[in-house]
Amino acid sequence: MKARVLVFGSINTDFVTYVADLPAPGETVIGGRFELFPGGKGANQAVAAARSGADVEFYGCVGDDAFGTQRLHDLAETGVSTEHVVVLPGVHSGIAQVIVDASGENLIAVAPEANSRFRPEDVVLPEGAAGVTVALFQNEVPQSTTEVLLVSCRERGMTVVWNVAPAGPETTSGVSEMPPAATLAAVDFLICNRRELAGLAGGGDAEGRARQLIGLGVGGVIVTLGAGGSLLLTAGETHCQPAFPVTAVDTVGAGDCFCGYFAASLASGMEVKAALRRASAAAALAATIEGAQTSMPLAADVDSLLAPAERGG
Ligand code: ADP
Repeated sequence: MKARVLVFGSINTDFVTYVADLPAPGETVIGGRFELFPGGKGANQAVAAARSGADVEFYGCVGDDAFGTQRLHDLAETGVSTEHVVVLPGVHSGIAQVIVDASGENLIAVAPEANSRFRPEDVVLPEGAAGVTVALFQNEVPQSTTEVLLVSCRERGMTVVWNVAPAGPETTSGVSEMPPAATLAAVDFLICNRRELAGLAGGGDAEGRARQLIGLGVGGVIVTLGAGGSLLLTAGETHCQPAFPVTAVDTVGAGDCFCGYFAASLASGMEVKAALRRASAAAALAATIEGAQTSMPLAADVDSLLAPAERGG
């Protein structure tokens, strides 16, 4: 049976201007190169899951402008089904304006626009999710929508994966609002980097913080540590997955690649640790290519990176 992944999330267009030095407030700098990239964590992860070989259905919102139309076209070309994406008349599609200086430092302003209008009422979930259907969420659409939908997906027997990125809105204590217990209990795997984890659970090291979330009902927590690999924590175990050694060129999109491949691998029936290894191999390859959505590797390349390791080499 074919792996099936439902992605609920954001679709953006990233406008990137490359300059020698970032402008100070009020200053105009004349840039060099301009590039336009398809983006949004939801769309990036959907593309990764599709490249992994899964059937991917996207749920989200765009406006009826040229950017939204083009993004839906790009997603469809990658094999992601966009028939459930709501196109809102008279609304802008989500955009990010990015300025990058010669050292790679950046300034980013995001206008979520249509993404911020995604509501649970826009979604009709499939009935009878046969086999392993994975529902994949991030944090770039309203949190209230995500919380309702992930509980509904879990009630329909899907495996729920929530990448809590970017970190949620912070309280005055600097720690994000902890999602309600009913939401956390519906999450099979919560994926975050160290910063996002620190925002959610205060105090202690990464393992201690992740254990707090498990205590609150999350099935398993995966903490990504960049070139340091990742940790999988479940009620009974802590498992380390080293990163695959590569010459990294651009790690933007590595986290999204990791999530998309992890979800797709689970949906294909793979056991959790095997899915984690495959996600790590895919993310390492994504780090060797510039860009986010454009750097998602194909399954054949990921599987050849895994093959020597599987033979013990
Ligand atoms: P994020 O971009 O969300 O902060 P990370 O930087 O932790 O995510 O990267 C996600 C995963 O991508 C890591 O757990 C690792 O498996 C892989 N990865 C990231 N950077 C590298 C790297 N330089 N070399 C190899 N793998 C990497």
